[in-house]
Amino acid sequence: MPHIVIVGAGLSGLTVAYRVRQHMPDARLTILEPRNRAGGNIGTEQHDGFRVETGPNGFLDNKPGMMQLCQDLGLADRLLAASEGSRKNRYVFVRNQLYRLPSSPLGILTTPLLSFAGKLALLREPFRSSRRPAGSPEDESIAAFGRRRFGREATDIFLDALVTGIHAGDPEQLSVAATFPRLPQYEAEHGSVLRGVLATSRQRKQAARARGEPPPPPPRMWSFREGLGVLVERLQHNLGVSLQCGVRAVALTANPDHPRWTVHAEGGNSWSADAVVLTCPAHQQAPILADFDPDLAREIAAIPFNRVVVAVLGYRQTDVPKPLDGFGYIAPQNTRRDVLGVQWCSSIFPDRAPPGMVLWRALCGGVNRPDVLDGDDATILRACQREMQLVMGVRGEPVFTRIVRWPQAIPQYVIGHSARVARLEARLARYSGLYLTGNSYHGVAMNDVVEQAGFVASRIADIYGPGKSLPQTSV
Ligand SMILES: Cc1cc2nc3c(=O)[nH]c(=O)nc-3n(C[C@H](O)[C@H](O)[C@H](O)COP(=O)(O)OP(=O)(O)OC[C@H]3O[C@@H](n4cnc5c(N)ncnc54)[C@H](O)[C@@H]3O)c2cc1C
Repeated sequence: MPHIVIVGAGLSGLTVAYRVRQHMPDARLTILEPRNRAGGNIGTEQHDGFRVETGPNGFLDNKPGMMQLCQDLGLADRLLAASEGSRKNRYVFVRNQLYRLPSSPLGILTTPLLSFAGKLALLREPFRSSRRPAGSPEDESIAAFGRRRFGREATDIFLDALVTGIHAGDPEQLSVAATFPRLPQYEAEHGSVLRGVLATSRQRKQAARARGEPPPPPPRMWSFREGLGVLVERLQHNLGVSLQCGVRAVALTANPDHPRWTVHAEGGNSWSADAVVLTCPAHQQAPILADFDPDLAREIAAIPFNRVVVAVLGYRQTDVPKPLDGFGYIAPQNTRRDVLGVQWCSSIFPDRAPPGMVLWRALCGGVNRPDVLDGDDATILRACQREMQLVMGVRGEPVFTRIVRWPQAIPQYVIGHSARVARLEARLARYSGLYLTGNSYHGVAMNDVVEQAGFVASRIADIYGPGKSLPQTSV
Protein backbone atom coordinates (compact mmCIF):
# COMPACT_ATOMS: atom_id res chain seq x y z
CA MET A 1 0.00 0.00 0.00
CA PRO A 2 1.82 3.14 -1.16
CA HIS A 3 2.26 6.07 1.19
CA ILE A 4 1.83 9.47 -0.44
CA VAL A 5 2.88 12.63 1.37
CA ILE A 6 1.33 15.90 0.21
CA VAL A 7 3.04 19.10 1.29
CA GLY A 8 0.53 21.93 1.79
CA ALA A 9 -3.19 21.78 2.58
CA GLY A 10 -4.40 24.56 0.29
CA LEU A 11 -6.91 23.90 -2.48
CA SER A 12 -4.18 22.10 -4.49
CA GLY A 13 -3.11 19.77 -1.70
CA LEU A 14 -6.65 18.94 -0.61
CA THR A 15 -7.76 18.28 -4.20
CA VAL A 16 -4.75 16.07 -4.94
CA ALA A 17 -5.60 14.06 -1.81
CA TYR A 18 -9.30 13.85 -2.67
CA ARG A 19 -8.66 12.72 -6.25
CA VAL A 20 -5.93 10.23 -5.24
CA ARG A 21 -8.34 8.80 -2.68
CA GLN A 22 -10.94 8.30 -5.44
CA HIS A 23 -8.43 6.44 -7.62
CA MET A 24 -6.78 4.55 -4.77
CA PRO A 25 -9.14 4.01 -1.81
CA ASP A 26 -6.52 2.00 0.11
CA ALA A 27 -3.55 4.36 -0.28
CA ARG A 28 -2.03 5.93 2.82
CA LEU A 29 -2.16 9.70 2.51
CA THR A 30 -0.55 12.28 4.76
CA ILE A 31 -0.86 16.05 4.32
CA LEU A 32 1.65 18.34 6.04
CA GLU A 33 0.54 21.91 6.74
CA PRO A 34 2.33 24.55 8.86
CA ARG A 35 -0.79 26.56 9.73
CA ASN A 36 -3.40 25.42 12.20
CA ARG A 37 -6.04 25.12 9.48
CA ALA A 38 -6.44 23.81 5.95
CA GLY A 39 -7.43 25.95 2.96
CA GLY A 40 -4.29 27.95 2.20
CA ASN A 41 -5.32 31.22 0.55
CA ILE A 42 -9.00 30.41 0.92
CA GLY A 43 -10.66 31.73 4.06
CA THR A 44 -14.22 32.79 4.92
CA GLU A 45 -14.88 34.72 8.13
CA GLN A 46 -18.11 35.89 9.80
CA HIS A 47 -18.15 39.27 11.54
CA ASP A 48 -21.47 40.67 12.83
CA GLY A 49 -23.41 39.54 9.78
CA PHE A 50 -20.64 40.36 7.27
CA ARG A 51 -19.40 37.31 5.38
CA VAL A 52 -15.81 38.11 4.49
CA GLU A 53 -13.53 36.33 2.03
CA THR A 54 -9.91 36.97 3.03
CA GLY A 55 -8.37 35.47 -0.15
CA PRO A 56 -10.20 34.53 -3.33
CA ASN A 57 -13.74 35.89 -3.71
CA GLY A 58 -15.09 33.33 -6.18
CA PHE A 59 -14.21 31.13 -9.13
CA LEU A 60 -15.05 31.07 -12.81
CA ASP A 61 -16.75 28.21 -14.64
CA ASN A 62 -14.63 28.69 -17.78
CA LYS A 63 -12.92 25.34 -17.11
CA PRO A 64 -14.75 22.23 -15.92
CA GLY A 65 -12.50 21.38 -12.93
CA MET A 66 -14.13 23.41 -10.14
CA MET A 67 -17.71 22.63 -11.16
CA GLN A 68 -16.89 18.92 -11.38
CA LEU A 69 -15.27 19.04 -7.94
CA CYS A 70 -18.38 20.73 -6.50
CA GLN A 71 -20.58 18.04 -8.05
CA ASP A 72 -18.38 15.24 -6.72
CA LEU A 73 -18.34 16.75 -3.23
CA GLY A 74 -22.14 17.07 -3.18
CA LEU A 75 -21.88 20.85 -3.11
CA ALA A 76 -23.88 21.56 -6.27
CA ASP A 77 -26.91 22.72 -4.28
CA ARG A 78 -24.77 25.14 -2.24
CA LEU A 79 -23.41 26.90 -5.35
CA LEU A 80 -24.21 30.57 -5.74
CA ALA A 81 -23.88 32.36 -9.09
CA ALA A 82 -22.69 35.94 -9.21
CA SER A 83 -25.54 38.39 -9.82
CA GLU A 84 -26.50 39.29 -13.38
CA GLY A 85 -25.61 42.92 -12.63
CA SER A 86 -22.09 41.96 -11.62
CA ARG A 87 -21.61 40.14 -14.92
CA LYS A 88 -22.78 43.08 -17.01
CA ASN A 89 -21.53 46.04 -15.02
CA ARG A 90 -17.79 46.20 -14.56
CA TYR A 91 -16.00 49.49 -14.32
CA VAL A 92 -12.58 51.06 -14.70
CA PHE A 93 -11.43 54.16 -12.88
CA VAL A 94 -9.38 56.31 -15.22
CA ARG A 95 -9.04 60.08 -15.65
CA ASN A 96 -10.60 60.45 -12.18
CA GLN A 97 -13.88 58.91 -13.28
CA LEU A 98 -15.69 55.56 -13.30
CA TYR A 99 -16.44 54.19 -16.79
CA ARG A 100 -18.45 51.08 -17.54
CA LEU A 101 -16.41 48.55 -19.52
CA PRO A 102 -17.99 47.79 -22.90
CA SER A 103 -19.23 44.22 -23.27
CA SER A 104 -20.31 44.18 -26.93
CA PRO A 105 -18.99 45.45 -30.28
CA LEU A 106 -21.55 48.28 -30.13
CA GLY A 107 -20.31 49.13 -26.63
CA ILE A 108 -16.76 49.39 -28.00
CA LEU A 109 -17.90 51.73 -30.77
CA THR A 110 -19.67 54.03 -28.32
CA THR A 111 -17.42 53.89 -25.23
CA PRO A 112 -15.91 57.21 -24.17
CA LEU A 113 -12.91 55.23 -22.85
CA LEU A 114 -11.22 55.19 -26.27
CA SER A 115 -10.56 57.98 -28.75
CA PHE A 116 -11.70 57.57 -32.35
CA ALA A 117 -8.17 56.47 -33.29
CA GLY A 118 -8.13 54.00 -30.36
CA LYS A 119 -11.43 52.44 -31.50
CA LEU A 120 -10.21 52.20 -35.07
CA ALA A 121 -7.00 50.48 -33.92
CA LEU A 122 -9.04 47.96 -31.93
CA LEU A 123 -11.48 47.27 -34.76
CA ARG A 124 -8.61 46.67 -37.19
CA GLU A 125 -7.44 43.67 -35.11
CA PRO A 126 -8.92 40.97 -37.41
CA PHE A 127 -7.12 42.48 -40.39
CA ARG A 128 -3.65 42.82 -38.84
CA SER A 129 -0.88 40.48 -39.88
CA SER A 130 -0.30 37.63 -37.48
CA ARG A 131 3.37 37.64 -38.39
CA ARG A 132 5.51 39.13 -35.67
CA PRO A 133 8.13 41.74 -36.59
CA ALA A 134 11.58 40.29 -37.33
CA GLY A 135 13.80 40.15 -34.25
CA SER A 136 10.88 40.00 -31.77
CA PRO A 137 11.72 38.10 -28.61
CA GLU A 138 10.53 34.50 -28.49
CA ASP A 139 8.27 35.19 -25.49
CA GLU A 140 6.19 38.35 -25.81
CA SER A 141 4.85 40.48 -22.96
CA ILE A 142 1.10 41.00 -22.62
CA ALA A 143 1.60 44.70 -23.32
CA ALA A 144 3.68 44.11 -26.47
CA PHE A 145 1.16 41.56 -27.77
CA GLY A 146 -1.71 43.94 -26.98
CA ARG A 147 -0.12 46.93 -28.69
CA ARG A 148 0.65 44.83 -31.76
CA ARG A 149 -2.89 43.46 -32.04
CA PHE A 150 -5.24 45.99 -30.41
CA GLY A 151 -3.30 49.27 -30.35
CA ARG A 152 -1.85 51.21 -27.45
CA GLU A 153 -5.02 52.77 -26.01
CA ALA A 154 -7.00 49.54 -25.72
CA THR A 155 -3.95 47.83 -24.23
CA ASP A 156 -3.38 50.53 -21.61
CA ILE A 157 -7.01 50.39 -20.48
CA PHE A 158 -8.60 47.00 -21.20
CA LEU A 159 -5.62 44.65 -21.07
CA ASP A 160 -4.11 46.45 -18.10
CA ALA A 161 -7.44 46.23 -16.26
CA LEU A 162 -7.65 42.50 -17.02
CA VAL A 163 -4.11 41.88 -15.77
CA THR A 164 -4.65 44.07 -12.70
CA GLY A 165 -7.91 42.30 -11.87
CA ILE A 166 -6.54 38.77 -12.10
CA HIS A 167 -2.80 39.00 -11.44
CA ALA A 168 -2.18 42.44 -9.90
CA GLY A 169 0.78 42.30 -12.25
CA ASP A 170 2.57 44.41 -14.83
CA PRO A 171 1.52 43.76 -18.46
CA GLU A 172 5.02 44.85 -19.58
CA GLN A 173 6.60 42.05 -17.50
CA LEU A 174 4.08 39.21 -17.76
CA SER A 175 4.33 36.68 -20.58
CA VAL A 176 1.24 36.56 -22.76
CA ALA A 177 1.82 32.89 -23.63
CA ALA A 178 2.07 31.88 -19.96
CA THR A 179 -0.63 34.17 -18.57
CA PHE A 180 -3.30 34.22 -21.28
CA PRO A 181 -2.27 31.32 -23.56
CA ARG A 182 -5.49 31.53 -25.57
CA LEU A 183 -4.59 34.95 -27.01
CA PRO A 184 -1.46 33.86 -28.97
CA GLN A 185 -3.20 30.56 -29.71
CA TYR A 186 -6.09 32.39 -31.40
CA GLU A 187 -3.61 34.47 -33.34
CA ALA A 188 -1.70 31.37 -34.47
CA GLU A 189 -4.78 29.35 -35.39
CA HIS A 190 -7.16 32.01 -36.74
CA GLY A 191 -4.82 34.86 -37.67
CA SER A 192 -6.65 37.09 -35.16
CA VAL A 193 -7.79 37.07 -31.54
CA LEU A 194 -11.24 38.38 -32.40
CA ARG A 195 -11.73 35.79 -35.15
CA GLY A 196 -10.51 33.10 -32.73
CA VAL A 197 -13.02 34.19 -30.07
CA LEU A 198 -15.88 34.19 -32.58
CA ALA A 199 -14.90 30.81 -34.04
CA THR A 200 -14.65 29.23 -30.58
CA SER A 201 -18.03 30.61 -29.57
CA ARG A 202 -19.55 29.30 -32.83
CA GLN A 203 -18.04 25.84 -32.23
CA ARG A 204 -19.40 25.75 -28.66
CA LYS A 205 -22.88 26.69 -29.86
CA GLN A 206 -22.78 24.05 -32.63
CA ALA A 207 -21.61 21.39 -30.17
CA ALA A 208 -24.42 22.30 -27.76
CA ARG A 209 -26.98 22.19 -30.58
CA ALA A 210 -25.67 18.75 -31.62
CA ARG A 211 -26.22 17.55 -28.03
CA GLY A 212 -29.72 19.04 -28.08
CA GLU A 213 -28.76 21.58 -25.38
CA PRO A 214 -29.31 25.35 -25.28
CA PRO A 215 -26.33 27.56 -26.24
CA PRO A 216 -23.80 27.72 -23.38
CA PRO A 217 -24.04 30.90 -21.26
CA PRO A 218 -21.00 33.19 -21.01
CA PRO A 219 -18.51 32.34 -18.22
CA ARG A 220 -19.77 33.23 -14.77
CA MET A 221 -18.32 33.70 -11.32
CA TRP A 222 -19.45 31.39 -8.51
CA SER A 223 -19.18 30.92 -4.79
CA PHE A 224 -21.27 29.15 -2.16
CA ARG A 225 -24.00 30.49 0.11
CA GLU A 226 -21.69 29.97 3.08
CA GLY A 227 -18.67 31.39 1.21
CA LEU A 228 -15.66 29.56 -0.22
CA GLY A 229 -14.71 28.15 3.19
CA VAL A 230 -17.37 25.46 2.75
CA LEU A 231 -15.35 23.97 -0.11
CA VAL A 232 -12.36 23.50 2.19
CA GLU A 233 -14.55 22.02 4.95
CA ARG A 234 -16.18 19.57 2.53
CA LEU A 235 -12.85 18.51 1.00
CA GLN A 236 -11.39 17.94 4.44
CA HIS A 237 -14.46 16.00 5.56
CA ASN A 238 -14.24 13.67 2.54
CA LEU A 239 -10.53 12.91 2.70
CA GLY A 240 -10.07 10.39 5.44
CA VAL A 241 -6.36 11.27 5.48
CA SER A 242 -3.97 12.19 8.18
CA LEU A 243 -3.86 16.01 8.08
CA GLN A 244 -0.87 17.09 10.17
CA CYS A 245 -1.28 20.77 11.03
CA GLY A 246 1.56 22.77 12.57
CA VAL A 247 4.09 20.90 10.40
CA ARG A 248 6.38 22.83 8.04
CA ALA A 249 8.28 20.67 5.54
CA VAL A 250 11.86 21.89 5.25
CA ALA A 251 13.77 19.29 3.22
CA LEU A 252 13.49 16.25 1.04
CA THR A 253 15.90 13.35 0.72
CA ALA A 254 15.91 10.51 -1.76
CA ASN A 255 16.56 7.00 -0.42
CA PRO A 256 18.31 4.25 -2.37
CA ASP A 257 15.56 1.74 -1.42
CA HIS A 258 11.87 1.82 -0.60
CA PRO A 259 10.29 3.92 0.56
CA ARG A 260 11.92 6.22 -1.92
CA TRP A 261 11.51 9.59 -0.24
CA THR A 262 11.82 11.16 3.20
CA VAL A 263 10.18 14.49 3.93
CA HIS A 264 11.81 16.32 6.84
CA ALA A 265 9.90 18.84 8.90
CA GLU A 266 10.87 21.71 11.14
CA GLY A 267 11.48 20.33 14.63
CA GLY A 268 13.06 17.09 13.40
CA ASN A 269 10.09 14.87 12.50
CA SER A 270 10.18 13.06 9.19
CA TRP A 271 7.82 11.05 6.98
CA SER A 272 8.81 8.28 4.57
CA ALA A 273 6.88 8.17 1.33
CA ASP A 274 6.64 6.35 -1.96
CA ALA A 275 5.53 9.57 -3.63
CA VAL A 276 5.73 13.21 -2.57
CA VAL A 277 3.61 16.05 -3.95
CA LEU A 278 4.77 19.59 -3.22
CA THR A 279 1.73 21.89 -3.50
CA CYS A 280 2.97 24.87 -1.47
CA PRO A 281 3.93 28.04 -3.42
CA ALA A 282 7.21 28.07 -5.40
CA HIS A 283 8.96 30.24 -2.79
CA GLN A 284 8.25 27.46 -0.27
CA GLN A 285 9.02 24.55 -2.62
CA ALA A 286 12.49 25.93 -3.42
CA PRO A 287 13.96 25.67 0.11
CA ILE A 288 12.54 22.16 0.51
CA LEU A 289 14.40 21.09 -2.65
CA ALA A 290 17.56 23.15 -2.05
CA ASP A 291 19.78 20.31 -0.74
CA PHE A 292 18.27 17.59 -2.89
CA ASP A 293 18.65 19.40 -6.25
CA PRO A 294 20.07 22.95 -5.97
CA ASP A 295 19.60 23.69 -9.71
CA LEU A 296 15.94 22.69 -9.61
CA ALA A 297 15.48 24.77 -6.45
CA ARG A 298 17.13 27.82 -8.06
CA GLU A 299 14.79 27.67 -11.05
CA ILE A 300 11.76 27.43 -8.77
CA ALA A 301 12.96 30.23 -6.49
CA ALA A 302 13.19 32.55 -9.51
CA ILE A 303 9.38 32.65 -9.90
CA PRO A 304 8.41 36.04 -8.46
CA PHE A 305 5.33 36.74 -6.33
CA ASN A 306 3.60 40.08 -5.82
CA ARG A 307 2.45 41.69 -2.56
CA VAL A 308 -1.24 42.36 -2.03
CA VAL A 309 -3.42 43.76 0.76
CA VAL A 310 -7.10 42.87 0.93
CA ALA A 311 -8.92 45.67 2.80
CA VAL A 312 -12.52 44.78 3.62
CA LEU A 313 -14.89 47.60 4.48
CA GLY A 314 -18.56 47.55 5.48
CA TYR A 315 -20.65 50.71 5.07
CA ARG A 316 -24.19 51.72 5.83
CA GLN A 317 -26.29 51.65 2.65
CA THR A 318 -27.47 55.18 3.49
CA ASP A 319 -23.86 56.43 3.26
CA VAL A 320 -23.59 55.24 -0.35
CA PRO A 321 -25.17 57.88 -2.62
CA LYS A 322 -25.65 55.70 -5.72
CA PRO A 323 -26.94 52.11 -5.71
CA LEU A 324 -24.05 49.94 -6.89
CA ASP A 325 -25.23 47.09 -9.08
CA GLY A 326 -22.05 45.63 -10.51
CA PHE A 327 -18.85 43.72 -9.91
CA GLY A 328 -16.77 46.71 -8.91
CA TYR A 329 -13.98 48.64 -10.57
CA ILE A 330 -10.31 48.35 -11.50
CA ALA A 331 -7.81 51.19 -11.54
CA PRO A 332 -5.27 50.00 -14.14
CA GLN A 333 -1.77 49.43 -12.69
CA ASN A 334 -0.36 52.15 -14.91
CA THR A 335 -2.32 54.69 -12.81
CA ARG A 336 -0.25 53.62 -9.74
CA ARG A 337 -3.12 54.37 -7.33
CA ASP A 338 -3.19 53.20 -3.68
CA VAL A 339 -6.17 50.97 -4.49
CA LEU A 340 -5.96 48.61 -7.48
CA GLY A 341 -9.66 47.98 -7.48
CA VAL A 342 -12.72 47.37 -5.37
CA GLN A 343 -15.05 44.38 -5.48
CA TRP A 344 -18.61 45.24 -4.48
CA CYS A 345 -19.00 41.91 -2.67
CA SER A 346 -22.58 42.43 -1.45
CA SER A 347 -23.65 43.33 -4.98
CA ILE A 348 -21.88 40.27 -6.48
CA PHE A 349 -23.31 37.71 -4.02
CA PRO A 350 -26.38 38.05 -1.76
CA ASP A 351 -26.12 37.77 2.04
CA ARG A 352 -22.55 39.07 2.22
CA ALA A 353 -23.68 42.00 4.40
CA PRO A 354 -26.43 42.41 7.02
CA PRO A 355 -29.62 44.27 5.97
CA GLY A 356 -29.01 47.98 5.32
CA MET A 357 -25.24 47.49 4.86
CA VAL A 358 -22.85 46.97 1.94
CA LEU A 359 -19.58 45.03 1.92
CA TRP A 360 -16.63 45.97 -0.31
CA ARG A 361 -13.13 44.57 -0.75
CA ALA A 362 -10.35 46.87 -1.85
CA LEU A 363 -7.23 45.27 -3.32
CA CYS A 364 -4.06 47.26 -2.83
CA GLY A 365 -0.39 46.78 -3.67
CA GLY A 366 0.45 44.62 -6.66
CA VAL A 367 3.76 44.76 -8.53
CA ASN A 368 3.74 48.50 -9.04
CA ARG A 369 2.77 49.53 -5.50
CA PRO A 370 4.42 46.96 -3.18
CA ASP A 371 5.09 49.87 -0.78
CA VAL A 372 1.41 49.86 0.28
CA LEU A 373 2.10 46.79 2.43
CA ASP A 374 4.68 48.71 4.46
CA GLY A 375 2.01 51.04 5.85
CA ASP A 376 0.30 50.18 9.14
CA ASP A 377 -3.38 49.19 9.13
CA ALA A 378 -4.57 52.72 9.91
CA THR A 379 -2.62 54.15 6.94
CA ILE A 380 -3.99 51.51 4.58
CA LEU A 381 -7.54 52.08 5.80
CA ARG A 382 -7.22 55.86 5.42
CA ALA A 383 -6.01 55.40 1.83
CA CYS A 384 -8.91 53.03 1.07
CA GLN A 385 -11.50 55.35 2.64
CA ARG A 386 -10.13 58.30 0.60
CA GLU A 387 -10.48 56.19 -2.53
CA MET A 388 -14.04 55.08 -1.64
CA GLN A 389 -15.03 58.72 -1.15
CA LEU A 390 -13.48 59.80 -4.44
CA VAL A 391 -14.69 56.91 -6.61
CA MET A 392 -18.05 55.90 -5.09
CA GLY A 393 -18.83 59.15 -3.28
CA VAL A 394 -19.34 57.31 0.00
CA ARG A 395 -20.08 59.48 3.04
CA GLY A 396 -19.36 58.60 6.65
CA GLU A 397 -17.07 56.08 8.26
CA PRO A 398 -17.09 52.33 7.65
CA VAL A 399 -18.92 50.31 10.31
CA PHE A 400 -16.65 47.31 9.78
CA THR A 401 -13.04 46.92 8.62
CA ARG A 402 -10.61 44.03 8.23
CA ILE A 403 -7.11 44.11 6.74
CA VAL A 404 -5.42 40.98 5.38
CA ARG A 405 -1.82 41.16 4.16
CA TRP A 406 -0.46 38.82 1.49
CA PRO A 407 3.32 39.45 1.39
CA GLN A 408 3.72 36.73 -1.27
CA ALA A 409 0.33 36.70 -2.88
CA ILE A 410 0.10 35.72 -6.54
CA PRO A 411 2.90 34.18 -8.66
CA GLN A 412 3.85 36.32 -11.62
CA TYR A 413 4.33 34.44 -14.88
CA VAL A 414 6.95 36.81 -16.24
CA ILE A 415 8.59 36.58 -19.67
CA GLY A 416 10.40 33.24 -19.89
CA HIS A 417 7.96 31.49 -17.52
CA SER A 418 6.90 28.76 -19.98
CA ALA A 419 10.52 27.97 -20.86
CA ARG A 420 11.35 27.83 -17.14
CA VAL A 421 8.46 25.43 -16.49
CA ALA A 422 9.57 23.25 -19.43
CA ARG A 423 13.12 23.08 -17.97
CA LEU A 424 11.70 22.26 -14.54
CA GLU A 425 9.54 19.49 -15.91
CA ALA A 426 12.40 18.00 -17.91
CA ARG A 427 14.53 17.96 -14.76
CA LEU A 428 11.70 16.55 -12.67
CA ALA A 429 11.25 13.66 -15.11
CA ARG A 430 14.47 12.20 -13.65
CA TYR A 431 12.80 11.62 -10.31
CA SER A 432 10.07 9.04 -10.08
CA GLY A 433 7.56 9.77 -7.35
CA LEU A 434 8.22 13.51 -7.00
CA TYR A 435 5.48 15.88 -8.19
CA LEU A 436 5.28 19.68 -8.10
CA THR A 437 1.97 21.47 -8.46
CA GLY A 438 0.10 24.47 -7.01
CA ASN A 439 -0.47 27.87 -8.53
CA SER A 440 3.14 28.62 -9.47
CA TYR A 441 3.30 26.84 -12.82
CA HIS A 442 0.19 26.40 -14.98
CA GLY A 443 -2.38 28.98 -13.88
CA VAL A 444 -3.09 31.04 -10.79
CA ALA A 445 -6.87 30.70 -10.46
CA MET A 446 -8.73 28.17 -8.30
CA ASN A 447 -9.95 26.54 -11.49
CA ASP A 448 -6.40 26.06 -12.73
CA VAL A 449 -5.04 24.55 -9.54
CA VAL A 450 -7.95 22.11 -9.28
CA GLU A 451 -7.33 20.99 -12.86
CA GLN A 452 -3.59 20.54 -12.22
CA ALA A 453 -4.30 18.65 -8.99
CA GLY A 454 -6.50 16.25 -10.98
CA PHE A 455 -3.69 15.63 -13.49
CA VAL A 456 -1.20 14.90 -10.70
CA ALA A 457 -3.62 12.50 -8.98
CA SER A 458 -4.16 10.62 -12.28
CA ARG A 459 -0.41 10.30 -12.82
CA ILE A 460 0.03 8.98 -9.29
CA ALA A 461 -2.80 6.49 -9.80
CA ASP A 462 -1.24 5.35 -13.10
CA ILE A 463 1.95 4.45 -11.28
CA TYR A 464 0.84 3.45 -7.78
CA GLY A 465 -2.83 2.60 -8.29
CA PRO A 466 -4.52 -0.76 -7.72
CA GLY A 467 -2.74 -3.61 -9.46
CA LYS A 468 0.47 -1.63 -10.04
CA SER A 469 3.71 -2.75 -8.43
CA LEU A 470 5.81 0.01 -6.92
CA PRO A 471 8.36 1.32 -9.44
CA GLN A 472 11.85 -0.10 -9.00
CA THR A 473 13.94 2.72 -10.48
CA SER A 474 15.92 4.63 -7.93
CA VAL A 475 16.42 8.40 -7.99
C1 LIG B 1 -5.59 37.85 -2.31
C2 LIG B 1 -5.88 36.76 -3.29
C3 LIG B 1 -7.05 36.79 -4.03
C4 LIG B 1 -7.34 35.78 -4.93
N1 LIG B 1 -8.51 35.82 -5.63
C5 LIG B 1 -8.85 34.79 -6.43
C6 LIG B 1 -10.15 34.72 -7.01
O1 LIG B 1 -11.01 35.58 -6.76
N2 LIG B 1 -10.44 33.66 -7.81
C7 LIG B 1 -9.53 32.65 -8.05
O2 LIG B 1 -9.86 31.71 -8.79
N3 LIG B 1 -8.31 32.67 -7.49
C8 LIG B 1 -7.94 33.71 -6.68
N4 LIG B 1 -6.73 33.71 -6.06
C9 LIG B 1 -5.79 32.61 -6.32
C10 LIG B 1 -6.17 31.34 -5.55
O3 LIG B 1 -6.53 31.68 -4.24
C11 LIG B 1 -4.99 30.42 -5.46
O4 LIG B 1 -4.39 30.17 -6.69
C12 LIG B 1 -5.32 29.06 -4.88
O5 LIG B 1 -6.13 29.17 -3.74
C13 LIG B 1 -3.99 28.41 -4.58
O6 LIG B 1 -4.17 27.22 -3.88
P1 LIG B 1 -2.87 26.35 -3.56
O7 LIG B 1 -3.29 25.22 -2.72
O8 LIG B 1 -2.13 26.04 -4.81
O9 LIG B 1 -1.90 27.32 -2.74
P2 LIG B 1 -2.10 27.95 -1.30
O10 LIG B 1 -3.48 28.37 -1.10
O11 LIG B 1 -1.01 28.97 -1.19
O12 LIG B 1 -1.80 26.75 -0.32
C14 LIG B 1 -0.50 26.29 -0.09
C15 LIG B 1 -0.45 25.66 1.29
O13 LIG B 1 0.88 25.21 1.51
C16 LIG B 1 1.22 25.50 2.85
N5 LIG B 1 2.69 25.54 2.99
C17 LIG B 1 3.51 26.59 2.74
N6 LIG B 1 4.77 26.24 3.03
C18 LIG B 1 4.75 24.95 3.45
C19 LIG B 1 5.75 24.04 3.90
N7 LIG B 1 7.06 24.38 3.95
N8 LIG B 1 5.38 22.80 4.30
C20 LIG B 1 4.06 22.42 4.25
N9 LIG B 1 3.07 23.25 3.80
C21 LIG B 1 3.43 24.50 3.41
C22 LIG B 1 0.55 26.85 3.11
O14 LIG B 1 0.42 27.10 4.49
C23 LIG B 1 -0.76 26.66 2.40
O15 LIG B 1 -1.76 26.14 3.24
C24 LIG B 1 -6.41 34.71 -5.13
C25 LIG B 1 -5.23 34.68 -4.38
C26 LIG B 1 -4.96 35.68 -3.46
C27 LIG B 1 -3.70 35.61 -2.64
